[in-house]
Amino acid sequence: MFTANEYYKKTFGHKMYKASISINVTCPNRDGTKGTGGCIFCSGQGSGEFASDGDNISLQIDEAIARVSSKAGNEAGYIAYFQSYTNTYCSSDYLRKCINEALSHPMIEAISIATRPDCLGEDILEVLSECAAKVPLFVELGLQTSSDKTAKLINRGYETYVYPKAVRDLKAIGANVITHVILGLPGEDISDMEDTVRMVAASGSDGIKFTCLYVLKGTMLADMYARGEFVTLEMEEYFDIVFDLIKLLPDNMVIHRLTGDGPKNLLIAPDWTRNKRAVLNYMNRRFGL
Ligand code: SF4
Repeated sequence: MFTANEYYKKTFGHKMYKASISINVTCPNRDGTKGTGGCIFCSGQGSGEFASDGDNISLQIDEAIARVSSKAGNEAGYIAYFQSYTNTYCSSDYLRKCINEALSHPMIEAISIATRPDCLGEDILEVLSECAAKVPLFVELGLQTSSDKTAKLINRGYETYVYPKAVRDLKAIGANVITHVILGLPGEDISDMEDTVRMVAASGSDGIKFTCLYVLKGTMLADMYARGEFVTLEMEEYFDIVFDLIKLLPDNMVIHRLTGDGPKNLLIAPDWTRNKRAVLNYMNRRFGL
């Protein structure tokens, strides 16, 4: 298994940490362009529950670095992570301004942009290409599933066929692509999850992030959960699935995350994700990390 830490050490020569920042963007799945309610699992903070608000990028980077600097030490480098909502759902001028402001911070060595595969027009690709010519650029695509049936159910707001083209377009401009996948989506069984991972493996994506589906307060998923329409995965079950799915990936694909955890104040289920230390211990044993 090729971990993100190994990859960063090989690429940058030292550990890398992410400095999460928010810019003034929304999401086409929330503002009415593609939908209004957003993905059924999204709490309304655009998957960036830990990012700060505001538009002062240098200050946000300073604050993010201050939060991890005692753990990171002096040797670490930082990636400016545009995390919340859809960070290419804006004008190309605005995105260019935000990226350049992040790049002007002396501690930033790379940029990471979280977005959707259906928000990568020519003008945006041009800005990303300029960025990739200066520093390593990661673009994180929220695929979640390759099943269009599930995509409809979770209100993802785009069809799966756009994903492979997005990966090709991003690779063509020199970006490093990371694909987000959610395991345990309502109605999905192991063969659906295998199909998703096979699609990611075949797409040319450089990396993958796995997340266990978690249910947050105030989401449509929470209503479905309360009605008993699906159950969440148990910890052992989840990591057994991840263990098997990893075998479908090419050896050079970087695994950036084996699971994620939702904000504790909003979390309804699964309860095991609350105990981060226990999850990490189990995960490290299970994967021999
Ligand atoms: S695309 Fe991202 S920000 Fe938009 S609704 Fe879905 S999870 Fe939330």
